[in-house]
Amino acid sequence: MSSERLALLREPFRPNQIGKLPKPTKQQTEEVKADFKKGVRCEVCGQWHHPKVVHLDYVGHAALTDRFLDVDPEWDWKPMAIDANGLPRFDATGGLWILLTICGVTRPGYGFAEGKIGGDATKEVIGDALRNAGMRFGCALDLWHKGDLHVDEEPVTTKGEDPKKTPATPPEPTPQPKPLTWGIEDLEVYTDLAQTQLYEVFNTAGNPELYQAEADKWAARRKVDAPVVVLGGLRDRIKFLQGAASKRKKPIAWTESDNTNFTGLVDQISEAYRALNQFEELESYRDGLMNAKADTAPGKMLLALADHLVAKNKEIADIKRKGK
Ligand SMILES: [Zn+2]
Repeated sequence: MSSERLALLREPFRPNQIGKLPKPTKQQTEEVKADFKKGVRCEVCGQWHHPKVVHLDYVGHAALTDRFLDVDPEWDWKPMAIDANGLPRFDATGGLWILLTICGVTRPGYGFAEGKIGGDATKEVIGDALRNAGMRFGCALDLWHKGDLHVDEEPVTTKGEDPKKTPATPPEPTPQPKPLTWGIEDLEVYTDLAQTQLYEVFNTAGNPELYQAEADKWAARRKVDAPVVVLGGLRDRIKFLQGAASKRKKPIAWTESDNTNFTGLVDQISEAYRALNQFEELESYRDGLMNAKADTAPGKMLLALADHLVAKNKEIADIKRKGK
């Protein structure tokens, strides 16, 4: 009886229940933090992030909860360990082990919200842990098979394994190693980046003799890291080297009138942020701006500012229109 119910967990999710989750590399995140112009308003997920960010398919919290409820209205989860205050005990990296019970069957799951802290992170960690535990019941297994749902997950536990046979014994409460599942496509991209593009950058900069040492480093990383991490890192590295090379070529000169225009635009943009009550956002925007100004040509910078002003004013107009 309960195995019949549990089988319903394995039904595929509808496309409209599958979301797109941006998975920036640490470098991509830092790059955009230091210079907002390195980011774009993403057409896939709507967030502001680095243009090269990889997206993963995932089942959102609502769709997942819905499915659990369909199968067993009394489904429940609890943290594997609690702290002295009776609250879920997170591990040293902010991850959380949970036990998910559906139709009387209990299986473990691990959740993690990379690079995030605070209340939103806690919610995300729990959602992630439920997805992970759900996977052990075969829930959204097709996404796992594609390698989309969790790139951080060890492939051995997700591929070719019958989730019904997954032992309910809790694994060691430590994050699992990253997968080394390099597909043919990944290797093709890697070859293009590490051999062709990377070499080109060194060659253009006039020091091809430095290329081999750099290529060796990436080859070593390829053996221990997941494709998404290595390829993202390589792209960032190439971009960084390209930027460094082009900076050497032409020093950036800001004239007095450039500076006047810059100040004028920043004032108007700041006003827009204040009108939107986005005070914290304004602060971090201005910080990023100062970093960006130091190494961006005036023409490019002023254009970006003008674009940003248009976008903020559109935000204000949209709110006003909705308000009516
Ligand atoms: Zn996106």
